[in-house]
Amino acid sequence: MPKMRAVQVPRAGGPLEIVERDIPNPGPGFVRIKVQACGVCHSDTVTKDNLFPGIQYPRVPGHEVIGVIDALGPNVPRWKIGDRVGVGWNGGFCGYCDNCRHGNFFACQTSTEVTGLSRDGGYADYMLAPISALALVPADLSSIEAAPLMCAGVTTFNCLRNTGVRPGELVAVVGIGGLGHLAIQYAAKMGCKTVAIARGKDEEPLARQLGAHYHIDNKTQDPAAELQKLGGAKVILATVTSSDAMKAVLGGLGIYGKLMVIGAVPSLEVNTIQLLLGNQSVTGWYSGVAADSEDTLNFSALSGVRPMNETFPLDRAPEAYDHMLSGKARFRVVLTTGN
Ligand SMILES: [Zn+2]
Ligand SMILES: [Zn+2]
Repeated sequence: MPKMRAVQVPRAGGPLEIVERDIPNPGPGFVRIKVQACGVCHSDTVTKDNLFPGIQYPRVPGHEVIGVIDALGPNVPRWKIGDRVGVGWNGGFCGYCDNCRHGNFFACQTSTEVTGLSRDGGYADYMLAPISALALVPADLSSIEAAPLMCAGVTTFNCLRNTGVRPGELVAVVGIGGLGHLAIQYAAKMGCKTVAIARGKDEEPLARQLGAHYHIDNKTQDPAAELQKLGGAKVILATVTSSDAMKAVLGGLGIYGKLMVIGAVPSLEVNTIQLLLGNQSVTGWYSGVAADSEDTLNFSALSGVRPMNETFPLDRAPEAYDHMLSGKARFRVVLTTGN
């Protein structure tokens, strides 16, 4: 049996450990991917710390996977050996449940597969994926560049494009981190008047470099008041996991403005009088399915949006994971296999 390297979580809360495993074979509707790069995401803590019901251990994390199809199971139309593909958080959908039949594949009722959670992910030399989870990677994105776009990229791009915001309208991005540094680029490349909101004046050069037209320092300035001076935001993308930071920007919405929540917090207090007087809303957004990821990759290739990455070889995955957790990574951490 040919072997491969895999980095697994042996038990709930256990350490990441590098093991040798048999190279798996794809079943019907599945392909095998020879992994080239896999992003290390904060959501990998869900696998490591057992934050989701029903995770079976040992489990290989990793839901920002880029690699090349090297084997096809039975019943695989469209895809072929040699295709370079990405797999994200959404681990596929059935196509026949009520939500799928209405086109809402993200909310599939029969398949709640999540890559790296309910099925082994990309911290390995090889992984299996169903064809409904595959995105084709355009030639002009490297695998390292493409990996974080399968999660942080699609989350911000797909959210933004579904808000209905139009070119020239005001978009504010709260936080310049793993999500925020991409959201700013997407908003600017979509032709929106883009505001970066971050703590400290020293973030301004980076915000401008990413394409922001304005920078608001929410340590010394009132972000809501500053956004109102600019006419009020059509969309505020809250990429931070601080309900205080979200609450502080809410007053910066213009009429019909939307606060898009893509960073999870346990609760958020909102001023409903302001919402109803301005036809405003607070909305969550599920990142997207494979087709959304593919659109994200293509838009990024087309427009020059790129993540800023720090790379680690697969064998140093535990160190890479700790670096991601430390919050010191600028901005995404990516594992490379050398495949
Ligand atoms: Zn992720
Ligand atoms: Zn379904």
